Amino acid sequence: MSAAAQCPPPRGGGGGGDTTLAALGAHMAPCRDTTPEQLAQLIDAHLGDLRQEQPNWTISSSTVAGRGVFATRDIAAGELIFQERALVTGPTARKGQLSSCICCHETLPQTGFLCRHRCTLPVCETCADSEEHQAECEHFRRWQPKDVDAEQEQVNPLSLRILTAVRVFHLGKEQRHLVDAMQANAERAYRREIIQAAQCFRNFPTTDRVFMDQLFRIVGVLNTNAFEAPCRSGGHETLLRGLFPLTAIMNHECTPNASHYFENGRLAVVRAARDIPKGGEITTTYTKILWSNLTRNIFLKMTKHFACDCARCHDNTENGTYLSALFCREQGCRGLVIPVQTRTLQPDWRCITCENVFPHAKMAKYQDFALNTINNRINSCSVQDMIHFINELCPRFCPSSNYVLIEAKLNVIWRMTRFDHEEYTPEELGHMDRYREEVLAILHKLGAGECTLKKLITGEIQ
Ligand SMILES: [Zn+2]
Ligand SMILES: [Zn+2]
Ligand SMILES: [Zn+2]
Ligand SMILES: [Zn+2]
Repeated sequence: MSAAAQCPPPRGGGGGGDTTLAALGAHMAPCRDTTPEQLAQLIDAHLGDLRQEQPNWTISSSTVAGRGVFATRDIAAGELIFQERALVTGPTARKGQLSSCICCHETLPQTGFLCRHRCTLPVCETCADSEEHQAECEHFRRWQPKDVDAEQEQVNPLSLRILTAVRVFHLGKEQRHLVDAMQANAERAYRREIIQAAQCFRNFPTTDRVFMDQLFRIVGVLNTNAFEAPCRSGGHETLLRGLFPLTAIMNHECTPNASHYFENGRLAVVRAARDIPKGGEITTTYTKILWSNLTRNIFLKMTKHFACDCARCHDNTENGTYLSALFCREQGCRGLVIPVQTRTLQPDWRCITCENVFPHAKMAKYQDFALNTINNRINSCSVQDMIHFINELCPRFCPSSNYVLIEAKLNVIWRMTRFDHEEYTPEELGHMDRYREEVLAILHKLGAGECTLKKLITGEIQ
């Protein structure tokens, strides 16, 4: 395990007066110097006791993107491919997620939840004195967070988001090498993220060029590779931001042949969703599997900076699921309108009944309207009202195959099976069963196999 993969040292580090934030990121291209073999060794060390005797996978160069994970023998649907623990985790720092302990993730009281050592991070009484929290606590105290209103006790999401990166600095040597070996998009937005975080502190070491270079690369690695992993603690569920390097090396496919899920936010489990032949690339999805072609590709473009080229993305009916479909705007026609061209973010749309063509701008507005109308209800309605809305009102403006309506049905399923513990009438349970069958039928059409969503819906995994 000694063949450490190293990135080249930063150019011009140390010398000149080029120590401003604006100079950041000049050489922050992805680390290309790690061979798949070196990466495999680092991954091997990272897996530790979860390393298999004879893995059914290997890391090698991929035609899809850089490198990927490949089957070393035929793998049957459902078979375990690997499990890995998170290399590092932290809070997602989203609104509504700010009041969980950053170490144990228990919900904290409404007031008095900031660390008693005054690092201004939300930490419970027990974790405040833990070894896990000590180093980051010292870091934050040294940097002196601003605007800490002792009475308001507000946690600044920008400073909270930088915590995961700070934790990377405290990893062991080999773990750090693994982080360095991971690919990172060099995004302007990441620099902004650091600048904004730095402004939350009085003493952020912005003039320490070496530190700032490393921080920029780490933030890039996290933004490019980290997953949001649900973690259940006590009676509530919170999302963690976790770096699972091997899971992240798997390339994307919109209907992937492997499924991944997380146990308690800290363990990733990857299984074959379909049969994978020896030598085949093992793929996962970076989007939601039931999103429409356009929605997935807008998301991939914005967050992962690539356009997908998988078979599903080339089929404007999406295996006959019509997840994108909207109603025809021509009077008297209630036909389904779907994008004409694939693999463009601005397609023309055509009615499959009257064949009228509509410009993308018009249909995008219509899709946004459906999305907003349905999401507003999801956020404000009881389960009963939601069922009524889906069954009685949605059919007036949204085809039942549209992904936004499918998401609303999923929302009802989750609320009835995972979160609420109300009693439901046989009629309400009947509607839920119908929604469940509908979603399963779509997954079947997509050829999704034993995917994570199917396992969640059928209760096979929690
Ligand atoms: Zn805690
Ligand atoms: Zn602290
Ligand atoms: Zn695709
Ligand atoms: Zn029409």
